[in-house]
Amino acid sequence: MKDVLDAHTHTIVSGHAYNTMTEMMQAAAEKNLELLAITDHAPAMPGSTHPYYFSNSDMIDREYYHEKFGKITRYLIGVELNILPGGDIDLGPKELAKMDVAIASIHPPCYPCGDIVENTRAYLRVMEHPYINIIGHPDDGRFPVHMEALVEGARKHGKVLELNNHSLDSRTTRRGARDIDRGMLLLCKKYGQPVIVNSDAHTDTEIGNHAAAFQLIEETGFPADLVLNTSVSLFLKYTNLSHKNA
Ligand SMILES: [Zn+2]
Ligand SMILES: [Zn+2]
Repeated sequence: MKDVLDAHTHTIVSGHAYNTMTEMMQAAAEKNLELLAITDHAPAMPGSTHPYYFSNSDMIDREYYHEKFGKITRYLIGVELNILPGGDIDLGPKELAKMDVAIASIHPPCYPCGDIVENTRAYLRVMEHPYINIIGHPDDGRFPVHMEALVEGARKHGKVLELNNHSLDSRTTRRGARDIDRGMLLLCKKYGQPVIVNSDAHTDTEIGNHAAAFQLIEETGFPADLVLNTSVSLFLKYTNLSHKNA
């Protein structure tokens, strides 16, 4: 299956990732990606950055020329928002309007563990937000959800659910992702709902590492035409750029 992009990565700006934007861009070019999204953590994550970082993002070129390979790679500048209790988020409309892509995810420091009803309600409320494109790693067993409601919500609001490769890594702090992801893929297949496979890289070496996720896609017989990684133009239909260019 073709895999030409990675839409969830972090730089040193996130406070617990280890490479600069330039290093991440170089790595993406070396790994032959056509598109990379830089999605640093929004301000509620301890050690992350001020909203000014996001509102000033017009300054960043969206193309990177890699001299060694003589080619241009495309970049999106985005954010990984923290879902807060009740489904609030930690960046305002002014900053979000500048983002090419926005992921919203639950993270332990920013979201006290709710029950399955509270967690599902928070995700569904987030999906109503026009600038949010992707629900990040909804596969963390520490935050149980009604997956069928999530898949239906994503379909209704035109959002994409993420199959996060890091959730399947033995070093992750998330719990039980493999089984939850398997269930998510089967439901997405049933409803014809697309997914995006992302590395969630916190180092340049992890960029484009989607191996475990693609293995699961193969195991579940998940259809290639519902995997947005296969085509940049297909993926771009689900980003904020498509709204801006509409
Ligand atoms: Zn992180
Ligand atoms: Zn995350």
